[in-house]
Amino acid sequence: MFRRILIANRGEIACRIIDTARRLGVETVAVYSDTDRAARHVEMADRAVHIGGSAPGESYLRADAIIRAALDTGAQAIHPGYGFLSENPDFVEAVEAAGLVFIGPSAGAIRAMGLKDAAKRLMERAGVPVVPGYHGDDQDGGRLLERAGKIGFPVLIKAVAGGGGKGMRRVDRAADFAEALASARAEAAGAFGNDAVLVEKFIEKPRHIEVQVFGDGDRAVHLYERDCSLQRRHQKVIEEAPAPGMTEDMRAAMGDAAVRAARAIGYSGAGTVEFIVDAAGGLSADRFWFMEMNTRLQVEHPVSEAITGIDLVEWQLRVAAGEPLPARQQDISCTGHAIEARLYAEDVPKGFLPATGTLKHLRFPDGVRADTGVRQGDVISPFYDPMIAKIITHGATRELALAKLSAALARTEVAGTVTNLAFLGRLVREDDFATGNVDTGLIDRRLDALCAQDAASDVDIAAAAVLAAGLDAPPAPARGFALWEPMAQSVTLCDGACPITARLRHEGAERLVVTVTRAAGAAQAAPPEAGPQDPIAFHWRASGWVGPDGAALRGRRIGDAVVVFSREAREFALVDPLAVAGGEGGSGDLVEAPMPGLVKAIFAGPGQAVSTGDRLALLEAMKMEHTLRAARDGTVAEVFVAAGDQVEAGAALIRLEETP
Ligand code: ADP
Ligand code: ADP
Ligand code: MG
Repeated sequence: MFRRILIANRGEIACRIIDTARRLGVETVAVYSDTDRAARHVEMADRAVHIGGSAPGESYLRADAIIRAALDTGAQAIHPGYGFLSENPDFVEAVEAAGLVFIGPSAGAIRAMGLKDAAKRLMERAGVPVVPGYHGDDQDGGRLLERAGKIGFPVLIKAVAGGGGKGMRRVDRAADFAEALASARAEAAGAFGNDAVLVEKFIEKPRHIEVQVFGDGDRAVHLYERDCSLQRRHQKVIEEAPAPGMTEDMRAAMGDAAVRAARAIGYSGAGTVEFIVDAAGGLSADRFWFMEMNTRLQVEHPVSEAITGIDLVEWQLRVAAGEPLPARQQDISCTGHAIEARLYAEDVPKGFLPATGTLKHLRFPDGVRADTGVRQGDVISPFYDPMIAKIITHGATRELALAKLSAALARTEVAGTVTNLAFLGRLVREDDFATGNVDTGLIDRRLDALCAQDAASDVDIAAAAVLAAGLDAPPAPARGFALWEPMAQSVTLCDGACPITARLRHEGAERLVVTVTRAAGAAQAAPPEAGPQDPIAFHWRASGWVGPDGAALRGRRIGDAVVVFSREAREFALVDPLAVAGGEGGSGDLVEAPMPGLVKAIFAGPGQAVSTGDRLALLEAMKMEHTLRAARDGTVAEVFVAAGDQVEAGAALIRLEETP
């Protein structure tokens, strides 16, 4: 076994590799870019080497700097992870030329599978069924169209150098072919520097089922299949193993085809053979076709690890160190079912737009595998993949694994950036997914429902108010007081643009009652009723408040916001007390300037009725505008100033009185 290896990657996969290396007593060297100076993988590794700027081209794609770092630190081998240099045969050759071991397949094997057209031709020769279509060298537009006609529409144009769903266009009619071809070519040229394409039959209602293979150069085995049909933009979101509804016949046929593919190229290391399956009439052993082979570890490898009990990174290290395959096919068995969900910083309703931000709060549930490369406080930068974590559950049956995943997602807490967490939660509860009736179009078909955001419930708002008021600590008796004083207080929050006042009252030490009042007239998609709602009671149970629905209150105050984690993370802005006019009791009727400034506007006149949260005045101070809002319902009695007036701190601007 190696004494020391370098990991030419970052994020969760670098951390994942370090975990196994450490268990095997192998020292690790991390590499990092400018932005990753304090990244989790750097902290975890035994040593770390800075290799350049934040853009991948200045660091993680710099073969020379990475090989130099390996030599300088005495590493014997380089693990490429996935993405970046993992499928670059020139890198493999450079690593080997430097006298180091590449933990992965040979440059020749990567080349053989690197282009989809050549790979398909190779597979045909090896007797592996390939997707019907044209994968020859002729790139003439007219003749490609002719081929498409023969294949029969709809067809899929694919960049031969493609990856990550790029350079792919579905074409339904001959008339649209030329335009789709031009745009696929342009995208491929930009992303891969190669504009060659192939044309395939577009399989309707397809399932993506892939087989994990492992070789040692002489022998190859498979570790069962994974179903990755839940995709958006041709990219995987949820993966599982084994595939729902898989029959022994079909598994044997697919496993055999995948192993044949690996043997055809003398494969060494972990690889994945991806098949497209026509699932329109259920799974059948003659309806799967080779799409491509990924000559590396795959993002979704944990589900295969969960069902086989095999650590794939350990196998990678052992085989790269010269050991033979650690197991024979008959020794590899499948136990139970595993599902993985990819948690991304992305804006789902905006077309899964990648997002950035600081992870102000991050917590994964106990007892669940969460592979992550970030910690609370870390930044999701624009430079790399916006994946936050992969959450993986395993159960005796698919139903149990799914129930665990659903519970795990519900208990995952992220704040500071938009994420797909709520989307994932809805997706795992989706009927067709729950029953295993999956295909690659499922997400698109259900997109509206999967994106639908329901308005914050009164319980969520009440929970936010408890946090905002700082009442989430143990109640008085738990702090050693025998006598307990009744108390009441109120807080103002904003749910988007809608101001909300909540009054909190202790009724005994272990009961807290919250009355939520929404401002009238606040524009809302699904307008909740304005005005006071029925009081909501929380009860103290052991270590926290439990709401009327029996669920524990979970959330955090983060800066000037409160985030409640119920079905999804809901953020409420704490209304700056400076910006809220008046207050409780005392001078409550007077709206005063919180600081010296210029009155920019007055929004209410004498006799006018106002509600909690209504804008009363706009003050400009310290080059910022402050909106002063009504802290309670009432009627404007007097206005003391006009727009343009300069006022001192504490100056009375408006007087409110009880509405007669
Ligand atoms: P990439 O290299 O981008 O991963 P793939 O060839 O693996 O490209 O295809 C990505 C996804 O596109 C598949 O998982 C599947 O959802 C869809 N797809 C690919 N080929 C077909 C096809 N012939 N018919 C229908 N869908 C396809
Ligand atoms: P799969 O392995 O299922 O084909 P992807 O195509 O999403 O899934 O995996 C390859 C991608 O992984 C790369 O194109 C890159 O965007 C992403 N990637 C690379 N490094 C990392 C990392 N450290 N953490 C998460 N994702 C990464
Ligand atoms: Mg693929």
